[in-house]
Amino acid sequence: MPIVDGHAVADSLDYDTCIPIVRQAMTALSKGETQQLPRGVLPLDHGHMFGVMPGALNGGPFGGGPFGAKLVAVFPDNFDKGLPSHQGVIVLFDRDSGRPVGVVDGGEVTAIRTAAASAVATDALARPEAKTLALLGYGEQALTHARAITRVRRLSRITVWGRAPGRAAAFAARLAEELGLSVRATASAQEAVVDADIVCTVTAAKEPILNGAWVAPGAHVNVVGSSIAGPAEVDHDLVIRSRFIADCREHVLRQGAEFLRAKAAGLIGDAHVVAEIGEVLAGHAEGRQSAEQVTLYKSLGHVVQDLAAAWPLLKKD
Ligand code: NDP
Repeated sequence: MPIVDGHAVADSLDYDTCIPIVRQAMTALSKGETQQLPRGVLPLDHGHMFGVMPGALNGGPFGGGPFGAKLVAVFPDNFDKGLPSHQGVIVLFDRDSGRPVGVVDGGEVTAIRTAAASAVATDALARPEAKTLALLGYGEQALTHARAITRVRRLSRITVWGRAPGRAAAFAARLAEELGLSVRATASAQEAVVDADIVCTVTAAKEPILNGAWVAPGAHVNVVGSSIAGPAEVDHDLVIRSRFIADCREHVLRQGAEFLRAKAAGLIGDAHVVAEIGEVLAGHAEGRQSAEQVTLYKSLGHVVQDLAAAWPLLKKD
């Protein structure tokens, strides 16, 4: 059985390939052309987690596509050891025979497909002329998000904030060199976002690091760092003032921490999740409604993104 390791994934899955794949996958999800179970999470000791994400690509552009699962270990403390905090495998099975067709490195796919999904959402929801990006966090997802967002908007400047100023500065220097853009580390999250057209929260923060009051009118925010009901990166204010779009409505209603906290506080109901990104992409729901509106994409991460991104790496045609 073939095994596609992380280097092979990084070599083959560039953003110009992955962004359209994820766009198709999210559209298929919202059209009911996929099947999936909500992510199962086994909490381990030391704050570690083991996630199991099963799904199937059934129809539309993926007709006859695979079924399978991502198995992912989440070890947030790996960041301080210089190791990836997400490691795992994606196992794909053949639709006709039930035969396992291969295993793909799940860490590398996760790094790329998550950023590709945010790029898809940004392309659909950010103002067309958006040109400034703020990254809250400077880990793996911050890097892949910077790469991916530059594929959908012509950026003039990036700001970066994180808890350790030295790390933020080193990350900014690396990004500036790679992308050939002005990248500046800021002393506060507020300073990073105040003039940003696009904001990505990509931290392992357990409590909000971004307040709605700091976000400029007309900004688009990708809220990515929390994938379970618990840790929340953004405050009630931002949730309430935003046009709130989910990657998957059913999953966000169960596991979207920022949404769930605002709901538990009695501030919003389920109808606050106005649409899935796939509905917006298919033209079945409105995305941004005005140049001043703040749009928010809640990313929990979805197995259909993993299956769709991994499949071409194993397909022989
Ligand atoms: P990394 O471990 O590479 O980076 C984690 C980042 O979070 C670092 O910048 C770290 O910096 C920062 N951080 C940790 N704790 C805090 C805190 N309390 N306040 C502010 N910043 C903090 O992780 P990834 O980049 O791979 O992932 C980032 C987040 O995105 C994780 O929470 C991960 O679970 C989530 N994720 C979501 C996915 C999705 O599909 N939605 C997919 C993959 C990941 P420092 O510790 O120096 O402050």
